[in-house]
Amino acid sequence: MKNSKNVLKYLIGKGSINNLSELLSSHKQNTHIYLVDIFFKDNGTLTNSLPIRSNDLLFFVDSTDEPSTNYINNLLENIQNQYTTFPNAIIGIGGGTTLDTAKAISNLLTNEGKAEDYQGWDLVKKAGVYKIGIPTISGTGAEASRTCVMTNYKTGLKLGMNSDHTIYDQLILDPNLTKTVPRNQYFYTGMDTYIHCLESLNGSHRHALSDAFSHQAIQLCREIFLSEDMMSDENREKLMVASYLGGCAIANSFVGVVHPFSAGLSVALGTHHCIGNCITMTAMEAFYPKEIEEFWKMADKQGVDIPRGIAKNLPEEKYNTLYNSTVIHEKPLANALGQHFADILTFEKVKETFKLM
Ligand code: NAD
Ligand code: ZN
Repeated sequence: MKNSKNVLKYLIGKGSINNLSELLSSHKQNTHIYLVDIFFKDNGTLTNSLPIRSNDLLFFVDSTDEPSTNYINNLLENIQNQYTTFPNAIIGIGGGTTLDTAKAISNLLTNEGKAEDYQGWDLVKKAGVYKIGIPTISGTGAEASRTCVMTNYKTGLKLGMNSDHTIYDQLILDPNLTKTVPRNQYFYTGMDTYIHCLESLNGSHRHALSDAFSHQAIQLCREIFLSEDMMSDENREKLMVASYLGGCAIANSFVGVVHPFSAGLSVALGTHHCIGNCITMTAMEAFYPKEIEEFWKMADKQGVDIPRGIAKNLPEEKYNTLYNSTVIHEKPLANALGQHFADILTFEKVKETFKLM
């Protein structure tokens, strides 16, 4: 039985980012490291409002690609070469990519070694540097979860540092920060919550509290994505809540069929996590028939584009890669389809499913 930990403290509400300086006042002595999504590099309003002091360091996280172990190692080295006093606060401001990067850097500053040494479960031995997470796009639940997903391109392993030490000490959930997210991206990332929760609720590995988190997060997603404008002020706040609840839900349960197929797309074709999930949903008739109908209703209502046909006509070796990088995810697939999932997910079935997308 798992002894569960959640984020220790959180602030929520429009303008709550203005409390950052006060939150940092108990960590005044040393350097603060700000890791901010690259979108805010050209849009100075946010960075100009941050309480950055002369000894603090600001880095922009390039979210063009999802985090790799190499990227994290290089960023860590950069930080270590530049700080004047050992950092005592890390502030991650951005989407899943930036929030995960900040978690990994926090852990690595106090635990020796490289990012790849900690890919797995409970390998992080010491608490990281105190960290504050400030999401600027909602849906992955990275702000709430105990992992930070990274790809090791040498080994092909896409796995995070699953550890209680990875959980944020403090969150600031300020819906003003998600106003500028492009509509399609807002939908793809938002749907990550809906998909995490539907996979969890349809699985066999159940957890009473997780189920409650999932039901509430799905209900909020319905209210948001079936309304006239998913990006209204009220809906952006609701989606921040849904994302947080979805992250708590998934911390104690497993995903199902969608995430392994989406991971296959990511490894074989470089598709990003959230758009990959949406593309996968279009081919889930055999596994989640009710949910796929609701998914299309939401996408149509919001007028978003879901790319089609990306895995329709690929060379045979690509289908081999897609197959291998899908069925490798034993835990979620067994959660969804039982221990003998490989009898259902034959090479032909997996290939046919990718062709349907
Ligand atoms: P992201 O961080 O990858 O960013 C997506 C895009 O949105 C980027 O182009 C970014 O610049 C832009 N963006 C972010 N905020 C914006 C804003 N306010 N205005 C305009 N543009 C903005 O997005 P994501 O979908 O939240 O994160 C995906 C990542 O999360 C993947 O790396 C995935 O592996 C990871 N993930 C982590 C967990 C976890 O539990 N740790 C769970 C699911 C996914
Ligand atoms: Zn996800």
